[in-house]
Amino acid sequence: MLHYKSYTLQNYKNLSRLSSVSNEDIEAIEIVGRVLPFKTNNYVVEQLIDWNNIPDDPVFTLSFPRKEMLYPEQYNHVKNLIDKCDKSALAGYVNKLRMSLNPNPSGQKHNIPEIDGIKLDGMQHKYRETVLLFPKQGQNCFAFCSFCFRWPQFSNMEDLKFSMRKDLKLYLKYIRLHPEITDVLFTGGDPVTMSCKILEDYVEPLLAPGMEHVRTIRIGTKSLSYWPYRYTTDKDADNIMRLFEKIVKSGKHLSVMAHFNHSVELSTDEVKKAINRIRSTGAQIRTQSPVLRHVNDNPDVWAAMWQKQVELGCAPYYMFVARETGAKHFFELPLEKCQEIFRNAYQQVSGIARTARGPIMSCYFGKIQTLGVEEIAGKKVFVMRFIQGRNPDWVVRPFFAEYDPNATWITQLKPAFGDKFFFESY
Ligand SMILES: *Cc1c(COP(=O)(O)O)cnc(C)c1O
Ligand code: SF4
Repeated sequence: MLHYKSYTLQNYKNLSRLSSVSNEDIEAIEIVGRVLPFKTNNYVVEQLIDWNNIPDDPVFTLSFPRKEMLYPEQYNHVKNLIDKCDKSALAGYVNKLRMSLNPNPSGQKHNIPEIDGIKLDGMQHKYRETVLLFPKQGQNCFAFCSFCFRWPQFSNMEDLKFSMRKDLKLYLKYIRLHPEITDVLFTGGDPVTMSCKILEDYVEPLLAPGMEHVRTIRIGTKSLSYWPYRYTTDKDADNIMRLFEKIVKSGKHLSVMAHFNHSVELSTDEVKKAINRIRSTGAQIRTQSPVLRHVNDNPDVWAAMWQKQVELGCAPYYMFVARETGAKHFFELPLEKCQEIFRNAYQQVSGIARTARGPIMSCYFGKIQTLGVEEIAGKKVFVMRFIQGRNPDWVVRPFFAEYDPNATWITQLKPAFGDKFFFESY
């Protein structure tokens, strides 16, 4: 049993582990931590980070701000304003800088449905069969990832936050009126940061009459990696198990969409216990992660992660390309490199672990997979396809983009043949 203790800019200096961090790296925490969200906790610090390998340790890089996450001129500007103690200029610059970091990538604001003329903030309905819900009380995480693509949720950027601010009944009515919705995905933040009682308030209405078309409930969470005690020794851990059992008994599928970035996150006794407990409820665990420079840009890490997941009874699901937000320049990898990592990792594991699909860009148009580089009609191209599409007819339809060794995102790609991608003319 461990009591959760968080570390943020206010108190991280109490960490005795900081004795193995250089002054330069501590300065970086102070400076970059003003711009990007920073929070970690006692489990991550004591059990996941290798303090003999700072600053390059993958979990340190995941959870602590590092100097290169800002461009040098940005870094120096924040540093100068802190040194001058100019609070209002600092707040102004930090806000401007955050706005320049593309806080809401991939047109997420386009997918907000309406009912009776009321916009259902905190709900997204992009793909026919699935809606995403962002429970108001779940806009928090057990630790913050330095690559987070939802970072405005944690940055006092009120206008940019997604959350379910309207009466829950309206969201439920929307789902009831849309029989094509088979999947409801709770996301955030992290919905299991909520108490079990509040989580129940969101989940139980989906088990009621009128919701028979909802076949799968998904819970997107990083808790298994950042706080597995949520399912073992936390005060209401047993209640969460009962809620999961209740969902499964209702005849619906419950899928915990677990976010793991590195095999080390699967190595502790506590995460193994938590996975066992979740599986004993009849829930399935599926796993996903972006591929990130400085964290997991190595096929061996992915192969080890997928293999370990399979052994623990989890199904590898998605490998994502880092989204164009926040400290993207620090984490991003060319699409070609992402695909090489995917292919090399995939080749190392048996078919059992080849349930993973990637590398995938979750973008305005849908989820686009890069299948590889080939030569077609004398031209070097990327072969791509949709795994999910804004228009369901696009799914699994291949297309070709001009080969570009530096491209890191769909917006940088040009069609290989013709002047438009097929999906741009819809
Ligand atoms: C990934 C995603 C989904 C779920 O897609 P699946 O392919 O069914 O996993 C739904 N909505 C959005 C906006 C997504 O990004
Ligand atoms: S777990 Fe997800 S939402 Fe939370 S900080 Fe990490 S990337 Fe962001």
